[in-house]
Amino acid sequence: MLDAAARDHAYYVHPYTNLATHQNERPLVITGGDGIFVIDQDGKRYLEAMAGLWCASLGFSERRLADAAYRQMQTLPFYHSFGGKVPAITLELSEALIRMAPAPMGKALFASSGSESNDTAVKLVWYLNNANGRPLKKKIIARHKGYHGVTVASASLTGLPVSHADFDLPLPQMLHTDCPHHYRFGAAGESEEAFAERLANNLEAMILKEGPDTVAAFIAEPIQGAGGVIIPPATYFERIVPILKKYEMLFVVDEVICGFGRTGHMFGSNLYGLRPDLMTVAKAISAGYQPISALLMSEEVSDVLVRQSTKLGAFGHGYTYSGHPVPAAVALETLRIYEQDRILEHVRAVGPLLQDGLRALADHPLVGHVRGVGLIAAVELVQDKATRANFPATAGIGAALQKFAQQDGLIVRVMAGDIVAFSPPLIITAAEVGDLVGRFGRALDATLAWARERGLPIAAR
Ligand code: PMP
Repeated sequence: MLDAAARDHAYYVHPYTNLATHQNERPLVITGGDGIFVIDQDGKRYLEAMAGLWCASLGFSERRLADAAYRQMQTLPFYHSFGGKVPAITLELSEALIRMAPAPMGKALFASSGSESNDTAVKLVWYLNNANGRPLKKKIIARHKGYHGVTVASASLTGLPVSHADFDLPLPQMLHTDCPHHYRFGAAGESEEAFAERLANNLEAMILKEGPDTVAAFIAEPIQGAGGVIIPPATYFERIVPILKKYEMLFVVDEVICGFGRTGHMFGSNLYGLRPDLMTVAKAISAGYQPISALLMSEEVSDVLVRQSTKLGAFGHGYTYSGHPVPAAVALETLRIYEQDRILEHVRAVGPLLQDGLRALADHPLVGHVRGVGLIAAVELVQDKATRANFPATAGIGAALQKFAQQDGLIVRVMAGDIVAFSPPLIITAAEVGDLVGRFGRALDATLAWARERGLPIAAR
């Protein structure tokens, strides 16, 4: 007979978890949700400052979404999109997405996760260049610390060592260029603009070294999320985009986190004036209530798919659950709520409270850098404010902070480099932002006391 702690782990593999150390801990078992709070099996409430995994944009108890799912389940619980058939609701969702896209788009192709849609983007880039008689133009440039998912192709685009190691990834066609993190990788005294210029030059040098005839596309999140909430330096995309044009590369924009209001703009592409050829969305498309994602493609791309069918007989791609009616209904209802509840205006009103509240903690001895826009933010913890040196990974400072926050009923996510991420539900109120910042401030203080007790050197000049 397994005891309770062992039983919690016996049958379950936790993704992105240290499975060795976790064997000695209890999982945090969540049983309910209420607004921006989740509730564990002991009835304790946590302010979910990450909206789960950046996705529960409408919190954890939006009745309208439950009703939309139930209605759809009663009307048409499943149908597929193969062979010229399609659920009616999925057509409605396609049109809604194309109408709201940040740049003219031709068609939408559905899947069930960000990873799958990015994987599909890779396939389309290759398909397109074969169709256009450029079979050697296949390499895709992503960025260090970018996150695009975990399928074989999307994990290859992801720029995090832990997603590659021992999985025999990345695939040889995937390359990684610089991470645009000015605070961490800018040279001493280098302005954001000069940093952006240097990174653009490095990108061009990489393309020339590889051979422009072999480089097909560039993929980027407008703001790198899981890599550490990295806001691009001023002029970054203005510098990068002309290079993509010059070498006839497709621009794939991963809007999986930024999409649907996170930054106070409908898409990250609106914030930075990007015009993607291919664009992936997931997460907040359905407020996280149902697994659904989409790849939006420009008309030029969708025209090629049509043309190829003449040659190949069919577009040979699609998942059983591509355009599944239940997630489609929930997504459509989510988009209606965003519009009816003026979610962008709300994010623009409360976002600055979060940003200012966190920036007010900038003088805290552990805080190296505070950054963000709208309702996405990060606080980077350092051992030495002047040199920006991190704590050694073995110090466990991030894990300690996460533990203290959790004790105080706050869920945040600490990423590699002791970067604390915030991405609360978009419905968070001004008072709840104050609550969030208060709890985080207390967690910082508790972490500082803990670090001092352990004799960790902290240079808070
Ligand atoms: N792209 C980005 C920017 C993401 O943040 C994520 C997930 N965190 C993905 C893609 C992958 O999405 P999924 O986990 O739904 O496969």
